[in-house]
Amino acid sequence: MLHVTSGLYIGTAADLNDRQGLVKAGVTHVLTVDSTDPLLSPDSGLCTKWLNIMDEATSDLLSHLDECFLFIQGAVDGGGAVLVHCQAGRSRSATVVTAYLMKKCQLSFTEAYDKLRKLKPDVQVNPGFEEQLCLYENMECEVDTSSPLYKQYRLSKIIEKFPELQHVPKDVFAVDPANLCSSEVSYRCRKCRRTLFRDSSILSHSVGDGAFQNKKSSNLSGQVQCTSYFIEPVQWMEPYLLGVMDGQLLCPKCNSKLGSFNWCGDQCSCGRWVTPAFQLHRNRVDEIRQVNLHK
Ligand SMILES: [Zn+2]
Ligand SMILES: [Zn+2]
Repeated sequence: MLHVTSGLYIGTAADLNDRQGLVKAGVTHVLTVDSTDPLLSPDSGLCTKWLNIMDEATSDLLSHLDECFLFIQGAVDGGGAVLVHCQAGRSRSATVVTAYLMKKCQLSFTEAYDKLRKLKPDVQVNPGFEEQLCLYENMECEVDTSSPLYKQYRLSKIIEKFPELQHVPKDVFAVDPANLCSSEVSYRCRKCRRTLFRDSSILSHSVGDGAFQNKKSSNLSGQVQCTSYFIEPVQWMEPYLLGVMDGQLLCPKCNSKLGSFNWCGDQCSCGRWVTPAFQLHRNRVDEIRQVNLHK
């Protein structure tokens, strides 16, 4: 068990058995990030939280980082101390502790991770967790499930969790805007005017990053352009997307070809890879702004 910062320790599963050590360090809370239940008895007097997570690059820790922060901060604010542990004290617990340091001390991922590694040189978060911590930094240490970054991250996990692409959770699909009354900017089929998606469904990416930039997509000024909207899947796409890795996206009303999808990702005209990719050609859809006539 190692002291990281005021009221925070990092450790291994074995540290839990060292009751004297826990008492001596004033540990009041235990946060377990492990696939086995630590089975702490209630008469241990410890306040506990268990996240059942495997140390794999595909595991989702990101979605839990805010609740871990609250648990740790709650203990510290109450004058106690927390032990955050996993099996070996190197990857899962180190990810949670790094995220805590980022948020608490307003550090970048690199700064927080370096700080932890100076104290505990054997920490080594797995590549998936490292990616999640970078995303956490980009989200300003706040898991906002409605942000495009989080939506894209969550979608990228679908193919890992449901490789057959069956039983995909229903809430992955955005509500069909054809069944919605909203003042939000929306987009419709150029041919039949069927509303297809809302502005908030667009998962924009930074242009370029193009090892494979397509010359045709450059305009006269040489600027590279995205010729498609990359969006989150919408309810009307469900029959196309389930159980199928890639294919075309047709208008649900007039059947004209709007774009394509690929759960494993696809390249935008600007060169950027997007995973997974659900794209509609910009020249097949029209933007609609709602005009309030009663103003
Ligand atoms: Zn692009
Ligand atoms: Zn149409």
